[in-house]
Amino acid sequence: MSARVLIVDDSLTVRMSLMEALFEAGFAVTTVPTVAEAREALALEPFELIILDVRLPDGDGIDLLGEIRAGKGSSGAAVMLLSTEAEVRDRVRGLSTGADEYVGKPYDLNYVIQRAAELVRSAPAPGSRETVLIIEDSVTYREQLKEALEAAGYAVIGASTGEEGLRLAASARPAAVIVDGQLPGIDGGAVTRRIRMDAALRHLPCILLTGSEEREAEVRALDAGADAFVRKGEEIDVLLARLAAVLRSVDGPRVGEASSLVGPRKILAVDDSETYLQQVAQELRAEGYDVALARSGEEALELLTAQPVDCILLDLMMPGIGGHETCRRIKGTPILRGIPVIMLTALENREAMIQGLDAGADDYISKSSDFEVLRSRVLAQIRRKQFEDENRLIREHLAQKELEAVEARATRELEALEAVLNERKRNEVEMNKLQAELAHVSRWNAMGMMAATLAHELNQPLTAVSNFLEAARHMSKNLEGQQAGNISEMIENAMKQTARTGAIIRNLREFIEKRETSRSLENLNRVVEEAIALGTAGALYNDTRVEVDLDARLPPVMVNKVQIQQVLVNLCRNAFEAMKSARRRVLTVGTRLETPETVMITVSDTGPGIDPDVMTRLFQPFTTTKSEGMGIGLKICQSIVEAHGGEIWITPNEDEGVTFRVRLPIDEDEDA
Ligand code: ADP
Repeated sequence: MSARVLIVDDSLTVRMSLMEALFEAGFAVTTVPTVAEAREALALEPFELIILDVRLPDGDGIDLLGEIRAGKGSSGAAVMLLSTEAEVRDRVRGLSTGADEYVGKPYDLNYVIQRAAELVRSAPAPGSRETVLIIEDSVTYREQLKEALEAAGYAVIGASTGEEGLRLAASARPAAVIVDGQLPGIDGGAVTRRIRMDAALRHLPCILLTGSEEREAEVRALDAGADAFVRKGEEIDVLLARLAAVLRSVDGPRVGEASSLVGPRKILAVDDSETYLQQVAQELRAEGYDVALARSGEEALELLTAQPVDCILLDLMMPGIGGHETCRRIKGTPILRGIPVIMLTALENREAMIQGLDAGADDYISKSSDFEVLRSRVLAQIRRKQFEDENRLIREHLAQKELEAVEARATRELEALEAVLNERKRNEVEMNKLQAELAHVSRWNAMGMMAATLAHELNQPLTAVSNFLEAARHMSKNLEGQQAGNISEMIENAMKQTARTGAIIRNLREFIEKRETSRSLENLNRVVEEAIALGTAGALYNDTRVEVDLDARLPPVMVNKVQIQQVLVNLCRNAFEAMKSARRRVLTVGTRLETPETVMITVSDTGPGIDPDVMTRLFQPFTTTKSEGMGIGLKICQSIVEAHGGEIWITPNEDEGVTFRVRLPIDEDEDA
């Protein structure tokens, strides 16, 4: 639905010309000549835009604006004041009452239409969607884009040729155009150029789709006046981001920036001489500029706070704060600093010129000089400002992109870091679990080993005692009398006690044999790696190099993982302790497929080796050379390995240290 605009102006010519142009631009137009009729129209229907003359036969346009803003119908409409009043006082009053734009009469029709479109676009009706025009001859691609854009909340209209697209752009007034570079008939570049040359469409953001990979295509696209280009091969997301960016950049002027990069320029002329002001106004209006007039520096500053301009002509000698001070204040205000100031003086005075430039003026002209000079200097300053504005926009855009890239990178790095930390945390939890399990099994193994040793050590004396008692009973049969009865009773008692002790020892043995021995098929290399992690988890071993040489051909092996890990942890810890004062500290752990039936694990160190007499007793319980050693570690290793049907033995290394070898059967015999 087209936007509704109300024109309030007592001049029939103005009403007619605006109505025609706005109607062509796709607006629904209502015109009225008086404040009273305007009130009636506003009461009847809502408007998106109101173009309002300031001086009306039955009242004041600014008063009417006040009523509108106070809520008397269309209070949210965009309002453009249109007035022959060049006086700063009027402008300031209008803008501070809530006008969105103030345009001096005689106005530039194209500019008014274009600003009208901009104002309506930057204040879309609530719930309305921005319309995007797609000009693309491939139906498939057009439909694909349409789907993506609609999913992103845009309304979409489509055209398959440049001609059709231009017609639609003019009638439907989309918020942006996406045009394919290659089209039958007039191509995308030409469409963009025509849009840029059309006063009413000039500000329509255009994104050109380029098919080729060559860089020149980009340059040509921007040359043609496109706001952005997107390669057809790129993801639709890129296109959506570009579209959002170009729509944002046309959304209303920023503070301190002139309203539009194209269109008539606003010039503020400040002079206490009425005749000179009128002359300047006439000359510059003839050039198409919108001229505002101020009688003093104070007035000029007041206007600048309400409406930015593109150039300021500033008389040097004025009552009040004067030209120099006005200039200093403008240049001292960050948002006004960029506006070019041209100083005017009646005298050819070098001193005054230097002062003026000191105060921050950008140029300096004599009032007596030709207006031709004034025009060209104004044009030069405006060009410079435009150039600077555009450069600043480009710089901001680049900086923004850079920032986005940095942010994206930082986010990626953070995510990677988080993943690593999580992984580490998981490993830690896993490790703690393993350690706890190992400690538990260790305790059981140690107890079992003590029990086994105890059973073994007690068995011999118990057998001796039993044998003695057996012999004593036999001999006591030959004794007689009271004494004989007592002795055989004592012997019977002692025999009962030894029988009980024997039962206890048998229970102990059973308990040892029943220890947890559940087995499963394990990747032995993984088991070894985990054991190394467990065995090396301690600051003590930090300066020892650990080399791991795993045979990738190992098949899964049937083992009790925790027990095998305990063997390896024991061997590793012994090796570390042995190497504590060695010159070279290298622990090498390896696996090897020894035969098709057996695997071999080796744990080798560069320690001092083992004395021959210790070596012979190494796997016997309570063999230790350490002051706080228990001497059962290797015994436990041996019993675990043997329970797996394997063997453990030790060989001295050629140069230094020893190697423990553990051989395990792959397919362990069930009854081994
Ligand atoms: P503990 O470590 O409590 O002494 P172990 O049964 O584990 O009990 O070890 C018995 C002894 O074997 C140790 O005290 C040490 O003298 C010797 N030993 C074990 N491993 C090594 C090794 N890699 N290098 C030198 N001696 C070792």
